[in-house]
Amino acid sequence: MAVLYRRVALIGIGLIASSMALAMRQQGLAGEITGHAKSPQTRATALELGLCDRVFDTAAAAVQGADLVVLAVPVGAMAALAAEIGPHLAPGVTVTDVGSVKQAVIDAVAPHIPEGVAFVPAHPLAGTEHSGPRAGFAALFQNRWCLLTPTEQSTPEATARLRALWEGMGSNVDEMDAPHHDLVLAVVSHTPHLIAYTMVGVADHLRRVSNSEVIKYSASGFRDFTRIAASDPTMWRDVFLTNREATLDILGRFTEELFALQRAIRMGDGDMLHAYFTRTRAIRRGIIEAGQDTAAPDFGRIAAGGPGKAGGR
Ligand code: NAP
Repeated sequence: MAVLYRRVALIGIGLIASSMALAMRQQGLAGEITGHAKSPQTRATALELGLCDRVFDTAAAAVQGADLVVLAVPVGAMAALAAEIGPHLAPGVTVTDVGSVKQAVIDAVAPHIPEGVAFVPAHPLAGTEHSGPRAGFAALFQNRWCLLTPTEQSTPEATARLRALWEGMGSNVDEMDAPHHDLVLAVVSHTPHLIAYTMVGVADHLRRVSNSEVIKYSASGFRDFTRIAASDPTMWRDVFLTNREATLDILGRFTEELFALQRAIRMGDGDMLHAYFTRTRAIRRGIIEAGQDTAAPDFGRIAAGGPGKAGGR
């Protein structure tokens, strides 16, 4: 594939940025990759694994001479980094991010983007419960969606080139506005994560069932909650603090549905429960038909000999 960017600067070198580095290298999409992360340890790992050709102690130094800058840090860290790199961005550069929330990132980053620099927010719906530079793998974005949420600072050329980069890394790309993105993600990702965190917390607090029983019998369903609830605490704290309105909206609806099901159980209303579960089963079928998960029993764990890796975030 053709080189799309001469020099890509990765700000933050965790799961997402390291996967991007590996995918860009595999597909020949970037000439050179520079990087910056908070800790010297992560910077050293990025060199050791060949994720970056050069790493820098500051974000400002890492973006010098780059034609694409990727902000791949937790959402709450974006504003300070954008303020730091803003004065070092030359006209013609594209800045993008991979944050899981879009309107809050736009509010945090946009004021620091100078005239002549394009800002194209993006969110790859791909991830695992692992984090850090060693967690990345080149196939993470294969057949996963990447959502672009262009603003008035996104030129059509910059948006088209970033789309080509994500397609080159194996993603399908859609565009939507940031508020809609945040509502969609509250439904498909953010609220489900909160529910998983809650369920694992309930099991932890319940003293009538011992921890060893919970672990021993976890394959009955609990195990799938624990995978999601093992996700990075900093990232997810920031997601809920910054996608507050949409998450609270969906949580309110969730609570109403939960009460309806609770009432059906109490009243012995089997018809209601059966009809409800029939509708939800159809959604699962739709996900499989869209190629977003496997129809293999137990998510293919037994057939593949291990847990499936990629999941949307
Ligand atoms: P991660 O693996 O935890 O890595 C975060 C990286 O950001 C680390 O390299 C960390 O450096 C660096 N960092 C944090 N604060 C910083 C600061 N103030 N200055 C410089 N570097 C800083 O995170 P990730 O999973 O790749 O997530 C990155 C972004 O992608 C987040 O905005 C998240 O919402 C989004 N996202 C995540 C997923 C997912 O499933 N994980 C999916 C899609 C999008 P150190 O290692 O030195 O601490």
